[in-house]
Amino acid sequence: MKIALTFDIERDIPTVLDTYFGVKVGLLKILQILDNFNIRGTFFCTGNVVEHLPEHIKLIERKGHEIACHGLNHERLNQLNFKECQEIIDQNKKIIEKTCPNSEIIGFRAPKLRPPKFLFKILSNLGFKYDSSIRSPEKLKSYQTKDNQIQEFHPSNFNILFRLPQPMGDSLIRKWIFKKEVVILLFHPFEAIDMKNLIFNIKNVSGIFKNVFFRPDRLGHTGNKFNTGLSNFIKESISRKAEFVSLKQLISE
Ligand SMILES: [Zn+2]
Repeated sequence: MKIALTFDIERDIPTVLDTYFGVKVGLLKILQILDNFNIRGTFFCTGNVVEHLPEHIKLIERKGHEIACHGLNHERLNQLNFKECQEIIDQNKKIIEKTCPNSEIIGFRAPKLRPPKFLFKILSNLGFKYDSSIRSPEKLKSYQTKDNQIQEFHPSNFNILFRLPQPMGDSLIRKWIFKKEVVILLFHPFEAIDMKNLIFNIKNVSGIFKNVFFRPDRLGHTGNKFNTGLSNFIKESISRKAEFVSLKQLISE
């Protein structure tokens, strides 16, 4: 069994919270957990985080993790035209390449997992090798064309399991994740910090209702509970002989 831990490195909750506490604090906790088990993950970074906190992104690179693209400012790419999308992804890649010159940038994930239909053409034009935005093989068909070689790594829907109350979350993880041959899990740095504290400081009230109270997964079990859950999951996976890989490692196989 192969498990890819992937992290979307963006503002705390794009469009609602313009803060970077997740990246400043949560990211370091996540990197420490990965260090503890000597495993490598994949980090999809928005251009604005790379420009705002370049040292944090360089730290990801120095620790040997894979860095990939996630838009400039977490744009809804499926609402933009081909040229606009291509410019955003091109800029995103150039910003990362400038900050992390030792990394080969070949992966992309669309913000909010909302890729435009022409995504693979753009990725192919810009020298990418894989995408990780499309949840199901059925949906993938409408994205593929004959003239591109972009590989898709479907992100799973299992991530909320890590923020369910225990032991319910743990038993569901065992039931679902450990049955798969390859699992791609998606996390955010905000999950590694206590979101309840942060949310009390939000000034955009309608944003809170839409993006927090109707999204209880953003409140529950963030911070230390999430970090402990992630560590326990890795421990159990290793004891079941699972192998942790970056997405780049999956493509070369
Ligand atoms: Zn995102």
